[in-house]
Amino acid sequence: MARDNFPEPVKRELALRAAYFCSNPFCLRLTAGPGSDSSRGLKTGHAAHICAASPGFARYDANQSPEERSSPDNGLWLCRECGDIVDKDAVGYPVDTLRGWKRSHDNMIAEIRQKGWSDSLELLRAGRLEPDIAEQVVALIEDRRVFWARFDAEFPDRVRMSLDNLRHELTKLRRQCRAGGPLDTMIVALGQTIRHFYDSVEHLDMATLRCSSGDPDWSYFEQALRALRKSIGIQLVALAQAYEIPVQGEFAKYFAPD
Ligand SMILES: [Zn+2]
Repeated sequence: MARDNFPEPVKRELALRAAYFCSNPFCLRLTAGPGSDSSRGLKTGHAAHICAASPGFARYDANQSPEERSSPDNGLWLCRECGDIVDKDAVGYPVDTLRGWKRSHDNMIAEIRQKGWSDSLELLRAGRLEPDIAEQVVALIEDRRVFWARFDAEFPDRVRMSLDNLRHELTKLRRQCRAGGPLDTMIVALGQTIRHFYDSVEHLDMATLRCSSGDPDWSYFEQALRALRKSIGIQLVALAQAYEIPVQGEFAKYFAPD
């Protein structure tokens, strides 16, 4: 069976678009540089197929025409090692993941081109680390009872303790992000939402407040908690979508993206 390989000009375009960096956000290895022969440069990267070039290989799509299969749209630039892994592990690296890598790599390289050298390095560092930090943010929130347990099962003092702890952990993660970058901005917004909740229940005595249907303080607390959950839920889903992270656990049942 014929392989719909990329013609050389397509490979060159894919490499150029990626600025010769591996497009895997966890890798970002530079795939071009000087060779030991002073007259030659060295290129080690790999133009990987998003949907395989021939049947029986990773992510092959029978509906693609040979032209689509060998077009730049169907490729992304990776280092040799990542190219090898992605070509052999279709389950671990589905089409959506690879398209997501390509899209965010494109955006990152476009942004780097506008910046000076030290900012560029900082962007690259953030590009490598932030998907991992974003995953930690989602994990921190999705398992927290305060965001999904039944209202009448909540003890306000425990809600407060859980939120204090969450703010503390978010602050630690924020230190690893690029200041003013997209993930930093999202974590700041989460912190502000929690702060807003604190402000709105400031007049309540959280230590003694308990579920009681006729108590106006309780219904005020319940409303504030509901607003907090809604706002955090919307932000978390946006964050998870931006970094293509699946939301799991109890939380997912309440805030599954449409
Ligand atoms: Zn790589």
